[in-house]
Amino acid sequence: MGVYDAIVVGMGPGGAMAAYRLASEGLSILGIDKERFPRYKSCGGCISSKVLRVIDFDIEDVIEDEVYGATFTYKSNRTVDILCDKPVGFNVMRDKFDKLLLDKARAAGAEVIEGERVKEVMEEGGAVSVLTDSGKRFMARCLVGADGAGGIVGREILKLNPKECAVSITAEVPIRRDSENGLDGRLYIDFGSVPYGYSWVFPKKDFLSVGLATEAKRLKKGIKEYLADLFNTHEALRGFYAEETTGWTIPIYYSEAQKVVKGRCLAVGDAGHLVDPFLGEGIYFAMKTGEMAAEVIASQAAKGHVDLTPYQEMVEREFFSEFEAASKLSKLVYSHPRMWYATMEGSPHIMERYLMVIRGEETYTTFYRWLVSKLKSRPWKLAQGWFKSRLLPA
Ligand SMILES: Cc1cc2nc3c(=O)[nH]c(=O)nc-3n(C[C@H](O)[C@H](O)[C@H](O)COP(=O)(O)OP(=O)(O)OC[C@H]3O[C@@H](n4cnc5c(N)ncnc54)[C@H](O)[C@@H]3O)c2cc1C
Repeated sequence: MGVYDAIVVGMGPGGAMAAYRLASEGLSILGIDKERFPRYKSCGGCISSKVLRVIDFDIEDVIEDEVYGATFTYKSNRTVDILCDKPVGFNVMRDKFDKLLLDKARAAGAEVIEGERVKEVMEEGGAVSVLTDSGKRFMARCLVGADGAGGIVGREILKLNPKECAVSITAEVPIRRDSENGLDGRLYIDFGSVPYGYSWVFPKKDFLSVGLATEAKRLKKGIKEYLADLFNTHEALRGFYAEETTGWTIPIYYSEAQKVVKGRCLAVGDAGHLVDPFLGEGIYFAMKTGEMAAEVIASQAAKGHVDLTPYQEMVEREFFSEFEAASKLSKLVYSHPRMWYATMEGSPHIMERYLMVIRGEETYTTFYRWLVSKLKSRPWKLAQGWFKSRLLPA
């Protein structure tokens, strides 16, 4: 049996990006995914414009809509538009977007097996071996765990806590292009319609991707009921209903002690709980960590080593303090959504500045520091916010 330079388990954005970069460096790569592509992935499908910095190929064919900001509501009331003149992100359908990335990895030289689930990962005798559900065994010098939320690598090898996840529900609502509903060019975000989280409507060419996410312990009724309420009240959803819904978990970042490397295995994207805990943005982080993993593996291969600890250091340096600041922002916003919404209504430049964080032009750390100092230095704004928040539905 041949030994690959690396096996990539899971070929979503994180795995495909790692495989693409590694194969482009001339390494022998095997990617394995339990699904056949194109496959559905429950997701809002908004990629931030930061993604363009990670790729060196065109994704225009799979962009469904350019996003210039958002229309915010509180429990479907009191609309606030925050729009800017350059794109914050792009809406994609994940089946098409992920297939494009997988094709890029293949074209770069990665061997890919679709429709086989990895059911065992073992490190032995200076190599890693994986066993698939059809009984095939493959060996490699190292392994990239890119098998997403609740995947075998995060759960069994890295012992990451599967309970540290947000819960979500989504629906894809078909829309008729010829009806030109004027929903394009922005996201629709609602606060207050679900406790400790938010709801969204993301327009695509033929669908509205609708969903909400929160912490399971905050739910006061079934998650489907919150979604039904959104459909009944939100202006953008007038005349639409959710035929089918999908539930999924979002493995958000939860601790500075999180380990994304063990021996010859590392995790990228959702497998490593590398999701922004404020927004739930994960596609960029999956692709970026896929790229970082490839950089470390390729440089180690050039030296004839397999020491993956530089990847842990890189991820900590680049993302952990950012995710810590995003966690603090979550507590501030989601613990007091009414107060937050009223404050934002009175000071729209807060969200205008936050769009810069999404575009990668400002960090969560500097944004959070700025926000707190602003709130502290203008207590009358907070008092105003408090009075206005009393007029919002409880
Ligand atoms: C409801 C919802 C809405 C979201 N909205 C957004 C958004 O708008 N923007 C954004 O940036 N992020 C969003 N996210 C997060 C985003 O979907 C993820 O962060 C992103 O998909 C992570 O990519 P990944 O490659 O790490 O994992 P995934 O995309 O989950 O890919 C993992 C792959 O591994 C495969 N796999 C799993 N187990 C095995 C196995 N044992 N053997 C072989 N293959 C396996 C799966 O089939 C899958 O193809 C959302 C998430 C949810 C749940």
